[in-house]
Amino acid sequence: MRWIEISPGFACNCRCSGCFSCSAEAGAQMDWAEVQRWLYFGRERGAKHLWLSGGEPTLRRDFRKTLKLAKHLGYERIKVQTNGMLFAYEGFAERAVAAGMNEVNLLLKSLDPKVHDALNRTPRSHELLTAGLEQLRLAARDAPLRLEGDFLMTTRNWSELPAVVAHYADRGLVHFNIWLFSLVDQGSRDLRRLVPKVSDCMAAMVEASDVARAHGATLCSLNTPHCMVPPSHWSMQFNAAGMDLAVVNPGGHVFMLEKSSIEQRVYVDRCDACAVRKWCHGMRSDYLAVHGDSELTPVSAEAAAGVDPRGSVLEI
Ligand code: SF4
Ligand code: SF4
Repeated sequence: MRWIEISPGFACNCRCSGCFSCSAEAGAQMDWAEVQRWLYFGRERGAKHLWLSGGEPTLRRDFRKTLKLAKHLGYERIKVQTNGMLFAYEGFAERAVAAGMNEVNLLLKSLDPKVHDALNRTPRSHELLTAGLEQLRLAARDAPLRLEGDFLMTTRNWSELPAVVAHYADRGLVHFNIWLFSLVDQGSRDLRRLVPKVSDCMAAMVEASDVARAHGATLCSLNTPHCMVPPSHWSMQFNAAGMDLAVVNPGGHVFMLEKSSIEQRVYVDRCDACAVRKWCHGMRSDYLAVHGDSELTPVSAEAAAGVDPRGSVLEI
């Protein structure tokens, strides 16, 4: 194990469409003793890096205690995945950095506050994210702090992707992850209308990757099989297994990232003829239930010749 992702609780101050945290039981929280146990567990199993997720990890009373202990135990990269809202409050970012946080992944939805707030189902979430980023940039002047963006791609925002990458790369973000909207955690709501067809989005994704590169940043796509991405841009393919990351959820559920329900793993018969079958993670079943499998087209040996199909891990 190189990374451990600890989700200490599913409580959140946003109610994003399609997020499990909105439907998780309010009581699904680790106590501090449990958080400590998992921090020690990670180091004992060789994890060098911590990814603190949720829910919204900044809401927890033991947020800074967790960062401090992680630093004390020798975790090198201490990443916080967040909607960024609490960082808007003066001193919050500075104190988190002093406690040990050295990476932040901000949840990005749209440059349009109305779209962002609507997808988050939380008024003012865009305003607070913007203010939070400014505070994080101030904190980054005095300490090493890597800023990344997680873009959740839906039918409502995919066309903005290159502009979002340009906007945030101009504001110091050095890496972007594209997460394809998933129905896995939609609960009783029917959110199929939000799942974009990847072939519709691919030109924007390729452009966003080029925009990132032009800014000296990098970009990964986490949920797209190789046949949907031009070989010229396979470097954007996320290699989940390459992370060697164990996820720990409240209740002690532990699994490797590549076994997560939002990883792909579904193939069709014609995949057997695909030259990159060995490296492709397949497609998610919830996506195939909405859009069918007509986009899955075996990659020929000629198309794959001379291109590294392994993709990237978030170790950049
Ligand atoms: S901010 Fe993150 S954890 Fe909170 S509801 Fe949105 S996606 Fe879920
Ligand atoms: S055809 Fe199948 S194995 Fe090949 S890239 Fe597409 S999903 Fe992956």
